[in-house]
Amino acid sequence: MEEPPCKEEALLLLHKVTSIERFHELSKVAVKVREEECGNIFKLDGFIGPITECETDPPCRYCSRASVNTIFRKPLSENEIRMAVEVLRDETSVHRVELGGGTVWSGAGELVIKAVKIVKEVAPHLKVWINVGPSLNLGDLLKLKELEVIEVCSSLETINPKVFVEAKPGDDIEARMKLAEEIDKVGLGLTSVMMVGIGSTYEDYVEHIFWLKRFKHLSHFPITGFRPIPGTPFASRPMASPLEVAKVGAVARLVLRKVDISFGGMMNDPRLLPLWIMAGANRAIHLGPHVHRHNAAWSRLAQLSGEVRRKTIGELEFIDLTPLTRRLIREAGMEPEI
Ligand code: SF4
Repeated sequence: MEEPPCKEEALLLLHKVTSIERFHELSKVAVKVREEECGNIFKLDGFIGPITECETDPPCRYCSRASVNTIFRKPLSENEIRMAVEVLRDETSVHRVELGGGTVWSGAGELVIKAVKIVKEVAPHLKVWINVGPSLNLGDLLKLKELEVIEVCSSLETINPKVFVEAKPGDDIEARMKLAEEIDKVGLGLTSVMMVGIGSTYEDYVEHIFWLKRFKHLSHFPITGFRPIPGTPFASRPMASPLEVAKVGAVARLVLRKVDISFGGMMNDPRLLPLWIMAGANRAIHLGPHVHRHNAAWSRLAQLSGEVRRKTIGELEFIDLTPLTRRLIREAGMEPEI
């Protein structure tokens, strides 16, 4: 496909791809576009978090924070961030890391800047990107740019205001849109997540993808599939279909061309990596080396294969999926880059 599809064509693709055979046709084009626009490289990011506590009240109805089993209650201390960076520096070859956390509505600029300075001091080679929701103002973004942060995330999850309010009653779509505008304005790379399976329509997905397309510095578009978490208000809702998530991702690849595309949520599973690759993805956030406060959901990933490395550092857990995920990426014909 020489030219990206227009909105109508993107919508038609979502409606028409209703079988594996049709997905296969879509996948062939998505893979070709990825090869032409991004090369044959699949990027694996590192992760450290949470660096901020989430104050969103009530918590988003799909989020683990709305259950007892949450990783968001106690953010990493400065000392723990330092230990996390040291383990990534000493035990992995990762060169790009997300510092992630929840939303601090009064502002998290100081905390985030401190965390970035720790990374730069301990491992100056590490490129850093930030995901802490709408906790950063324009001044913070300018400081982060000075510190050579590569990307900042502002996710809507859905562009449909009604679906947003239903899923995220304590959140603010306007604040998230404003942050995305400001990230783009200061020239930082913009990451922004869309979630499939929380009630958005195909029209919403297309609107969302084209809303993102107008940002000059959009650099990374993670598409997550809704995963019902026990104990949350959305626990009894159906899980997103992996094929639906892949289909939306493939259409996003056709529209957004050079932008990094990754998957998440229920797609965060190395066993689904071949599907990611078929759908045109070229990056993963949570399938590389991970340092987080000990959490059962992440620990389960460590049990997938004897190749996965795991160790405990105080109250933190280090899980390195890269021996497994690099192999799977190579076996799918792409070259992993961490
Ligand atoms: S803002 Fe993020 S971390 Fe906070 S409750 Fe919502 S999804 Fe969870």
